[in-house]
Amino acid sequence: MVHLMEILRYRPVPASAVFFGITRRCPLHCKHCSTSSMLDSEEYPEQMFRKFAESFTPENRPEFVLMSGGEALLRPRLVREIAELARAAGSRSHVLSGLYFADRGRIPRPLKRAIDAVDHFSASLDRFHEEEVPRASVFRILRELLDEGKDVSLQLTGLGPDDPYLADITAEVRREFDDRVPMLVAPISPHGRADAWLLKRMPLPKSTVDPSPCAVSAWPVIGFNGQVTACGNQDVMDGKVPLPPHLYLGHIARDDWPTIKERALENPMVRAIRAAGPEYLMDRHGSTGAEGSSGGNGGSIGDGCGSAGYCETCWVLSKDTAVPRAVRELADRPATRLIERQTESLLVEAGPLAFARQYGIAKYADLVSLGHDPSRRTPAGSLA
Ligand code: SF4
Repeated sequence: MVHLMEILRYRPVPASAVFFGITRRCPLHCKHCSTSSMLDSEEYPEQMFRKFAESFTPENRPEFVLMSGGEALLRPRLVREIAELARAAGSRSHVLSGLYFADRGRIPRPLKRAIDAVDHFSASLDRFHEEEVPRASVFRILRELLDEGKDVSLQLTGLGPDDPYLADITAEVRREFDDRVPMLVAPISPHGRADAWLLKRMPLPKSTVDPSPCAVSAWPVIGFNGQVTACGNQDVMDGKVPLPPHLYLGHIARDDWPTIKERALENPMVRAIRAAGPEYLMDRHGSTGAEGSSGGNGGSIGDGCGSAGYCETCWVLSKDTAVPRAVRELADRPATRLIERQTESLLVEAGPLAFARQYGIAKYADLVSLGHDPSRRTPAGSLA
């Protein structure tokens, strides 16, 4: 059992978790789907994902394993097996679902076994999901799980702080569940099907560029095809932009967890992006400086950032050979390691609410703590 707050506590800690995108398939047709998922989208053999989870050991494991898709619960057996392998090694697990089965009465048995196996169950809900799955059905499933003592949460997306849908749904969830269901509220990401209609945020005029660490590059992301990247930026995962070489960590058909973890911790460019952010690196070390960057980024617990400028600068960092050269030169200096440790400590100290404010919609950040009992925190692992 684990509350959303506890997962978010680890969000800035490098390699403390790993995302599994176990399928790109999904039976729903949400207009904003960031992965453009369909029922006949790509799906790779289960064995590849299972084998990677088998490489977790009590001595070398992520603190959390987070599974999503597409729709992860189209592969309930795989979700259960990964959760069981994670637990055997001492890790805790989380699955995110769009609840495609919610209006079918009781939760189908194989899906219930998968949900029972994970430590935290999260459901997506927003105006587009509601066109596919009624709100009342989502609430019924959450209530059933809550009544059994399951830790659950909602991941809500909307058009911004003034979106009336968000005001309505958050108020209703609070009323309906007596403030027992935490909510992570994020802006709709301008990727996948939303790319065609969502107005992109415009870059702000650039003044000076300060360090702006990219905390979402802390957890490796396994794509539905087994490729592992330093973050889950959807344009990168979809191949819409060529994979920047500095964000590539490996492939689970060849690499096990210790290898991926080592790369996530030691790759000099990923370390520098985590500590200073791409715009600062380009401004400081690039031959021409950062152009048109806005700073800050958005996205949900699983996403990369979605703002104009910030990630785009990241994608071209390796093209300017001056940047990786300077980063490599600085990488092993004691002062660099010290700055990295201090950045991580500051982000950890700032806590889950600060993360939710920065990467979600700030107005709703406090909702991640609903139902949290700090005395129930489990003493697994250690934070920076
Ligand atoms: S800056 Fe954007 S693209 Fe680069 S690592 Fe962070 S989330 Fe990924």
